[in-house]
Amino acid sequence: IHERTLREYQIESKLPSAIESGEIKIHFQPVVDSGKGQIVGFEALARWQDDELGQLPPAEFVRIATASGHIGALTLMVLRLACDAFRPYLQLPSSPYVAVNVSVSDLYGECFPDTLMSILEEEGIPPQRLVLEVTEDMLLGDTATVTAALARLRDNGVRIAIDDFGTGYSSMSYLSSHMVNIIKIDQSFVRRIVTKESDQKIVRAIVSMAADLELSVITEGVETEAQLQFLYRHDCAMAQGFLLSRPLPVGQLQAWLAQDGDQ
Ligand code: C2E
Ligand code: MG
Ligand code: MG
Repeated sequence: IHERTLREYQIESKLPSAIESGEIKIHFQPVVDSGKGQIVGFEALARWQDDELGQLPPAEFVRIATASGHIGALTLMVLRLACDAFRPYLQLPSSPYVAVNVSVSDLYGECFPDTLMSILEEEGIPPQRLVLEVTEDMLLGDTATVTAALARLRDNGVRIAIDDFGTGYSSMSYLSSHMVNIIKIDQSFVRRIVTKESDQKIVRAIVSMAADLELSVITEGVETEAQLQFLYRHDCAMAQGFLLSRPLPVGQLQAWLAQDGDQ
């Protein structure tokens, strides 16, 4: 307990300067449409290499940033970095999006939609090309505030994706309320998709429900050709995972596109 507390304390105290100094960077992981052979989008994932603590897992420092009140600054920094790195790819023929993960406290912040829109304007990114990834749990709790924030973003053209779908506490009402555009099926259902019948049934059910509700579906964590083929045959062509590409430093994206992408 002592060690864990010490580590959390170190991470918390290093966070503000890591955010400000540019020590925290982003990688982009492409999302691919395996049917069309096109890039659908790029998800920005935060990366932090600390001299003392080494490479810190984003899930850990994001959790600590959320608990300590630094998440707002982290989200806006990631958004700026993501917009900046994405600008050269606005013109790709497949019109890809850039996706940024947001936390529930971002959505509770009253100014969040306005701040986000002004960053998009400064960075020259049309709101239609931004996707915000939220988790199911965020859409519980104080739903009025979150719904109002999502409605303002949606009215401005920003799209919302439900991340890690199927792992949280779902209130299905948000899926039919036109607040959400994309469902990202969690990698835990994809891992055994080729062999485990219950996971196949769940994925088929999600794909069918999404089609009825006119939502797009992306599967996360696709690691094998067999998984990709299975998903393609079950009307789930949009995928993200190590098979297609690991998250890449933004400087390596151009080379990846030239080799594997659709340019
Ligand atoms: P996520 O948003 O669901 O991101 C997908 C995670 O799955 C990433 O982990 C990615 O590296 C990993 N992944 C992608 N393809 C595969 C695959 O084929 N196999 C496996 N095993 N993993 C795969 P990462 O980068 O460690 O991020 C973990 C989580 O941390 C993210 O999950 C997201 O919830 C959070 N996160 C990362 N960056 C940010 C950020 O800038 N802001 C916020 N609020 N959260 C972030
Ligand atoms: Mg995500
Ligand atoms: Mg996810």
